[in-house]
Amino acid sequence: MTAQVLAGAPAAAALLSRAAARARTLPRPPGLAIVRLGDDPASVSYVRGKDRKAREVGLQSTVYALPEETSQAELLALIAELNAAYDVDGILVQLPLPPHIDEAAVLRAVDPSKDVDGFHPVNVGELWSGRPGLLPCTPAGVMVLLEHYGIPVAGRRAVVVGRSAIVGRPMAALLLAADATVTLAHRRTPDLGAVTREAEVLVVAAGRPHLVTPEMVRPGAAVVDVGINRVLDAAGVSRLTGDVHPDVAGVAGALTPVPGGVGPMTIAALLANTVTAAERRLGLSGPR
Ligand code: NDP
Repeated sequence: MTAQVLAGAPAAAALLSRAAARARTLPRPPGLAIVRLGDDPASVSYVRGKDRKAREVGLQSTVYALPEETSQAELLALIAELNAAYDVDGILVQLPLPPHIDEAAVLRAVDPSKDVDGFHPVNVGELWSGRPGLLPCTPAGVMVLLEHYGIPVAGRRAVVVGRSAIVGRPMAALLLAADATVTLAHRRTPDLGAVTREAEVLVVAAGRPHLVTPEMVRPGAAVVDVGINRVLDAAGVSRLTGDVHPDVAGVAGALTPVPGGVGPMTIAALLANTVTAAERRLGLSGPR
């Protein structure tokens, strides 16, 4: 058996085209403000990608590229300005921030109704109370991917490996909201394989190359590999690889590739969130 490949591109394209159609019905384009500090090459490239896609979908995107040495007070002043701006519906602060900035304080400063990353404690609390507001993008993207490929979640055993605030925890909350029976595993979980083998839907977000091997996977399971790890191959060439060993394709029923699986879903979910934020702020919440 070879697992069905859950490619992100078609699911992301479908989500983006729904978001673009919703954006066109609004009285003005949804506005996205992207803030980044410094010149970390990965951040610069992520921000460029988000900005480009936002424009393609018909959003009004503005990048605020601030110098590395920007003070916390200056950054908070910019966020206050964006919070108050009528035509800004979504504010995204690209992480990580330089060490002199208190990241949690900055994320708390974003108006929850404009928090398109879904990191504000108000949105986190709403998610866990079963009244989701703006959803964290990577887990929201995983849910759209599963839905796109018709993979059922309700009533099934789901296991999430990793409990970070940006992926593992909100992923567990969304699977729970979709009526799965959810287990959250982490480094202190004894016998990880025994836990993952119970999963009919397995989401791995540990940041450990090839942590999940075929004997850890229940035959026929849907496996979502969120991990993005840069490793050197046998020839010494740097490559991206996931947290799931490629041989899992021989056991799983469905498997996301890395790259090209969850990655494209994250940006699409961010832009869909921005449209949702605009609809809510303009009092025009429509179907998602
Ligand atoms: P973190 O490092 O913040 O969290 C990793 C989690 O995995 C922790 O909860 C940790 O457990 C758990 N973990 C680590 N090693 C093991 C192990 N051996 N066994 C069981 N659990 C383990 O990472 P993130 O959540 O931020 O990211 C996870 C991965 O997803 C990374 O590769 C990242 O690059 C990728 N990613 C991909 C995105 C995409 O768009 N595709 C977006 C965001 C992230 P503990 O809490 O006990 O330490």
